[in-house]
Amino acid sequence: MPAFDLRTVLLMSSVMPGLMALVMFSLGRSFPTNIRGVGNWACGALIVSVAAILLALRGGVPDWLSIMGGNCGMIVSTGLWLIGSQRFFGCPPSWRFVTLMLVIGAIGESWMTWGHPSGAGRALCVNVILALIYTRQTFVMLRYGRQDPSSMFVGAVFLIQTAVTAIRVVTSIGSGFAGTGLYARDFVQTIYLATGALVSLMATVGFMLVAMNRLRLQLEQQSLVDPLTGLLNRRAFLNAHREEREKMMRTGGLLSLLLIDLDHFKAINDTYGHVTGDEILVDFSRRAAEMLARHNHFSRWGGEEFAALVPGARPEDVFDLAEALRSRIALNDNPSLPAYACSIGIACMTSGDATIERLVKDADEALYRAKRNGRNSVELSDQAILV
Ligand code: GH3
Ligand code: MG
Ligand code: MG
Repeated sequence: MPAFDLRTVLLMSSVMPGLMALVMFSLGRSFPTNIRGVGNWACGALIVSVAAILLALRGGVPDWLSIMGGNCGMIVSTGLWLIGSQRFFGCPPSWRFVTLMLVIGAIGESWMTWGHPSGAGRALCVNVILALIYTRQTFVMLRYGRQDPSSMFVGAVFLIQTAVTAIRVVTSIGSGFAGTGLYARDFVQTIYLATGALVSLMATVGFMLVAMNRLRLQLEQQSLVDPLTGLLNRRAFLNAHREEREKMMRTGGLLSLLLIDLDHFKAINDTYGHVTGDEILVDFSRRAAEMLARHNHFSRWGGEEFAALVPGARPEDVFDLAEALRSRIALNDNPSLPAYACSIGIACMTSGDATIERLVKDADEALYRAKRNGRNSVELSDQAILV
């Protein structure tokens, strides 16, 4: 069986974040612009890869390149990860903090390379700086990503890295800097190197998961929302109906549907223009949503038609609600828009009967009657009057 030495393992694991960075770059290009920070994470992963390779090549490349490039590269990459996470979660990015850490790191490393050479001093300097950046990274992920398991995973990875780096700092001070060479054969150093290599990889994979998860949530949400009015769309409404009906089947009770259609909307478009028509749709959605409480599942059914699902209410209460909505809309309280009105048809039935097809058919018939009666009115379906 081939034996791998620590340097080979480090070199191999250092390449991985770099490869992941390339994947992240190409993924990030197709992300919507409101998902921020992915580019910073990818840059961080690329730089951590180069820095880790330079560190692992100590002895094989000039010392100044391995030390300065490796250690300062580590500071830059972890700093970019922190900035990426802050931008991703919409917090102000700590550019000044990261720049300060880099300047202190570069001065410290230069002094302890050329001024007063000390390998242990260099390790201590870079580890203190990294521990500070890791602490902030851990805080950002655990605080702002607590709803999302992949963010918690990244937070946990950085928590471990913070702890291992802090232990490395404490033990190197405690031992008077003995045995702190990069490949020193002491237990803490081996754990430190192994964790460092693993964490870079896990963090890069974790950042990708976090970004993909955000993208998935955003697309899922977009597929359920009407872009003009911000209301639920028909697909979301059908989901809500299925859930409410299942709930009502267990508890018993009535399910009601309000179909709301704006009156003479074609004439409004023809007279005032399509843009004003759109503004009326938005105005109506806002005013109606204020009246229909959250549990009423208010949605844009299509065009200038809207639907609201009212679970567990008596037909007369649903009628009163619809009547209040109709009269509020007819009260033209927005002087920047022409007056407009709506007609409402109501279906109401026991949950066993209340398939979406039956609800829509009954409500549509009632709506047709409301239109025939001269519009700006509310009608209950015949079936609703009987329940
Ligand atoms: P009624 O009172 O019988 O409902 O008459 P109406 O004119 O409202 O009904 P009709 O079905 O004849 O016309 C509906 C109009 O709604 C036609 C269509 O151009 C308009 N419309 C549908 N969607 C939109 C939209 O997103 N924006 C705008 N501005 N108009 C829309
Ligand atoms: Mg219509
Ligand atoms: Mg209409």
